[in-house]
Amino acid sequence: MHNLARLKQAKERFFHGRRTFRKEGPAAEAIQAIANQNPIPRELVRTYLRQGNLRVASFLRDDTEGLRIVRPGSTDVELAIKMCVDSRAMVLTILDHILRIGLERTAGAIVRDGHVFRKLVAGGVGVVTTHEFCGAEGAAHDFHKYRKNIRDVDPDLFRIITGIPKAVAVLDEGKIRSRFNSTAQTNSALAAMAQHCSECDISLSETTNIHPAMTVFEPEAKLVMINPAKPLEDLDVENPIINELKRNVADLHLLAKEEGRSMQSQYAHVVLVYDPDRTHDPRLLFGLLPNEAFVVTVNSGQLFKKAQNKEELIRGSASIGCVKYAVSDGGNGHVKGVGKEGGNGFVLIVDPDPKVATKIKDILLGNGNGGNGLKAATKGGETIEIAQYNPETHLITFVN
Ligand SMILES: [Zn+2]
Repeated sequence: MHNLARLKQAKERFFHGRRTFRKEGPAAEAIQAIANQNPIPRELVRTYLRQGNLRVASFLRDDTEGLRIVRPGSTDVELAIKMCVDSRAMVLTILDHILRIGLERTAGAIVRDGHVFRKLVAGGVGVVTTHEFCGAEGAAHDFHKYRKNIRDVDPDLFRIITGIPKAVAVLDEGKIRSRFNSTAQTNSALAAMAQHCSECDISLSETTNIHPAMTVFEPEAKLVMINPAKPLEDLDVENPIINELKRNVADLHLLAKEEGRSMQSQYAHVVLVYDPDRTHDPRLLFGLLPNEAFVVTVNSGQLFKKAQNKEELIRGSASIGCVKYAVSDGGNGHVKGVGKEGGNGFVLIVDPDPKVATKIKDILLGNGNGGNGLKAATKGGETIEIAQYNPETHLITFVN
């Protein structure tokens, strides 16, 4: 088992290294631009990402003594997390290199078949976390409240909107909506697990350790655990892994504060697309803070299967919907810095195999599916780039 005392020490060193790194050179320049909400040219973003990755890779190589570094894509995970793709949601710091973690992101933390929770080992912990100021929840709210014409909604975005129960979406107060959404998505996860367990030999009681949670950004960023029976109330969950997650959010909030920005402000300079079964969280591999990059997870195997069945892909894929939501949405992407006016349109697909990344790029562009996907928002694909991840060295190389 992992050594939590060593893990804490390593996290401490990582945290201080990051603080120093971010104070000079291209990092400082990029961070200043983010804090001022100024557009960042792709070239500067690339330099900043490259340097951040070198720092993280050397940390993992030289400074994690006594800790075992796990490869991504483990099928038996100790911690399974479903969280929103939003750029501000908390990250795991170095946890996902040390623990066997399953991580899935969808807009609004929407749980469909509970895929990530099916990987949990007996006694493992599951967390569904929504967050304050959620754009997906807001979009669902507006849709039901103002009855936008269904024909005006992109089919991929429609999948997001309908993934949040109407009774939750119509709640006016954002914080309360998020609490109820987290609870509703956790219930979906539990139902998916009940079905899963009835089909195999696992005892349901061993896999129902799934907790609703929410990240609050103001006034202090923190992760709150929600009482599933009374969603307006918090619950004390005594678990060392959950305690580490809570500490991460507090640490990251402190760092953001030092740089003159709050966790509330959302200004991304890149949309990172990756398959968590194949690659560690690229935001972490680049050493970014939570509100610097918008991160979308794709299950590439499932996406390719869908692409072969064109009809199904046209009907919608949540991960494509998330990228569209960020950078295009009919010329007005929701993520400032990337999609809004003056945004750089920068989408970076990270994978160990450039061929897989190229295939994902094709799907994003709607090639061969009759759609035009992200062509307009990315200058015909020019601002979609590919980076190769080496799981042995943790180094990332830009391919194009
Ligand atoms: Zn969100």
